Amino acid sequence: MSEKVNAFQIAQSQFDHVAELLKLEPGVREVLRWPQREYSFRIPVRMDNGSLQVFQGFRVQHNDARGPNKGGIRFASDETLDTVRALATWMTWKCAVADIPLGGGKGGIVVDPSALSDREKEALCRGWVRAMWKNIGPRNDVPAPDVGTTAQMMGWMMDEYSQLVGQYTPGVFTGKPVGGGGSLGRKEATGFGVIYTVREAMQHLNLNPKESVAAIQGFGNVGQYAAIGFVENLGGKVACISCYDRHDKKAYTYSKKGGIDPHFLISIVDQYGTVDKQKALDAGYTASDGDKWIEAEANVIIPAALEGQINKDSVKKISKGVKIIAEAANGPTTPEADATIKQNNIFVVPDFLCNAGGVTVSYFEQVQNDMNFYWSKEEVLQRLDHRMTNAFNAVHERSLSEKVYMRDAAYMVAIDSVVKAMRLRGWLNGDW
Ligand code: NAD
Repeated sequence: MSEKVNAFQIAQSQFDHVAELLKLEPGVREVLRWPQREYSFRIPVRMDNGSLQVFQGFRVQHNDARGPNKGGIRFASDETLDTVRALATWMTWKCAVADIPLGGGKGGIVVDPSALSDREKEALCRGWVRAMWKNIGPRNDVPAPDVGTTAQMMGWMMDEYSQLVGQYTPGVFTGKPVGGGGSLGRKEATGFGVIYTVREAMQHLNLNPKESVAAIQGFGNVGQYAAIGFVENLGGKVACISCYDRHDKKAYTYSKKGGIDPHFLISIVDQYGTVDKQKALDAGYTASDGDKWIEAEANVIIPAALEGQINKDSVKKISKGVKIIAEAANGPTTPEADATIKQNNIFVVPDFLCNAGGVTVSYFEQVQNDMNFYWSKEEVLQRLDHRMTNAFNAVHERSLSEKVYMRDAAYMVAIDSVVKAMRLRGWLNGDW
């Protein structure tokens, strides 16, 4: 399904479109179209077989006007600087739209983590920190997990940083394991946050959640909790989930009459989001082509995998009954597909609003690290719901008042907030 997309070009074209609507002055556009800082470095690792392998690492800091840069680190074999730039840019908008006092950053390593042993992964994580430690920190840039990275990896990275600076510094990485400085509710945060925004969208569209059916692409951290939230929080049904099978090197869509059981599928998924096909088939699931999820008879579709999955071809396959697209993944929709979705009047919860739950609880984690006082899971999720609902309402109200598409409204709220912070800090006075 994925036509080759350049995520940074998408991020820039979305920004350019709204900068025009906001009549932003050209110089301000130029500041925001590009990251403030970019780091590219090589990380040597002694592999288990004795060879020395060198990995390409990145960190991009897009804009820190509203606070320290914030954003995940991806381990992916097709990672590029442009992907990291796009993701860093979207983090700036995400933190702004969620009204979190943080900026936008993102990092990555070009590697397939499933090909590494635990020892090699740890060495690579520590190597990334040794390359970057002078340019990250609780007050300037706070990385977190993303595709291909885990809570355990954040624990190793936090430890490496703490050793280098000579003091325990839990607030330098978020998404750490619970008991190792992590926050309760972090693993549920992005998926549940997606569902809180779906609930608000349904209320606006007068849809009954209990009669709703979702189709989800991706069954990693985000897809799993989106599925649980859709079934348990909203009372709806999940018709199918699609995931990439790293053994067969292709994606499958898993479905079952009456809807999938998210807890069962979670019990047979590995840490990379690959469902055990044989166990699923044995339990009566059907495994069809990986692209089938988008054609499912559903009224909500939730892309929760990678960028560019809803493109000019796949968008035509979306079933007529679909009323809501909740963009759990970052950048799942290409601009051509977006135009079709707009035309077909499907309500979109745009990515950096929809999946802001992860960074929101990452922010809570940092706050708890600073206080050295930890909240209960209920408190974390309650605060998350409150913030996600407020963010949804701010964007939705802007969309209604300016009669613009939800994505454009989200950009308007976010860009206004970042420009205001830059102005208040004097960055636009000419002496920056
Ligand atoms: P993950 O690595 O845990 O899971 C990714 C899932 O996508 C896996 O199940 C994988 O099999 C599946 N996948 C990959 N290619 C696919 C394909 N072609 N067809 C079907 N499935 C495919 O990643 P995640 O943390 O769940 O992140 C998913 C998306 O959400 C990414 O875009 C990420 O940037 C975004 N996101 C994640 C978080 C977070 O807190 N984890 C926060 C905000 C945004």
